[in-house]
Amino acid sequence: MSINIAIDGPAGAGKSTIAKKLSKELSYIYVDTGAMYRAMALFCIREGADIDDGQAVSDLCQKADVKIEYRSGIQRILLNGEDVGDKIRTEEVGNITSKISAYQKVREKLTALQQKLARENDVVMDGRDIGTCVLPNAQVKIYLTASVEARAKRRYDELKNKGEQVSLEQIEADIKERDFRDMHRDVAPLVKAEDAALIDSSDMGISEVVTEILVLLKKKGFVKKA
Ligand code: C5P
Repeated sequence: MSINIAIDGPAGAGKSTIAKKLSKELSYIYVDTGAMYRAMALFCIREGADIDDGQAVSDLCQKADVKIEYRSGIQRILLNGEDVGDKIRTEEVGNITSKISAYQKVREKLTALQQKLARENDVVMDGRDIGTCVLPNAQVKIYLTASVEARAKRRYDELKNKGEQVSLEQIEADIKERDFRDMHRDVAPLVKAEDAALIDSSDMGISEVVTEILVLLKKKGFVKKA
């Protein structure tokens, strides 16, 4: 049986950085489910879909083939065969993603893909509904959060470093709006699984969080693959 580690939490809590480090540490596969939803959103934007029309978006998504591939341990996200890894990380795509991910049909399609990956591989999978819906039987579940201020500041620094002109207030407002949508949607809302360990990373560095999770794993009897 494969080993599944689920990491959920709101935008900007550091999930992907931590999940990536953890997967490397354990030699598991990292599955970035946000990237899958983002690729779907990019497809809808490119097709000029009316994002508020749930039926149209759901129909359209059936034409999108989203895949995750691994080359030399690096994850690539493919949309109809095209590597879209560098096109899905914008604020615009992030905001549209949180709208289209509320539609049941979109979630059904991606959830099935994510479950298949987790059945066939030892994975560290991050997202919003991994511990609650995608992998309810995951052996380890983490709910990683941080204050809105800390998350907005991290995102601000990241974008500034990339040379983008951004406003901290705008980022904070976007994060709050995305959190609200992700937490209040009818299908698979972001909520801490009852059996998830809560980690608040507001005042923690990345390596501190990784160490805390590794300690937790050790306590549960999971060790690095040979
Ligand atoms: O994690 P990331 O910021 O890339 O996710 C972008 C958006 O994708 C989230 O705001 C959320 O709306 C959606 N998402 C989701 N379920 C997941 C992963 C991401 O609804 N498992």
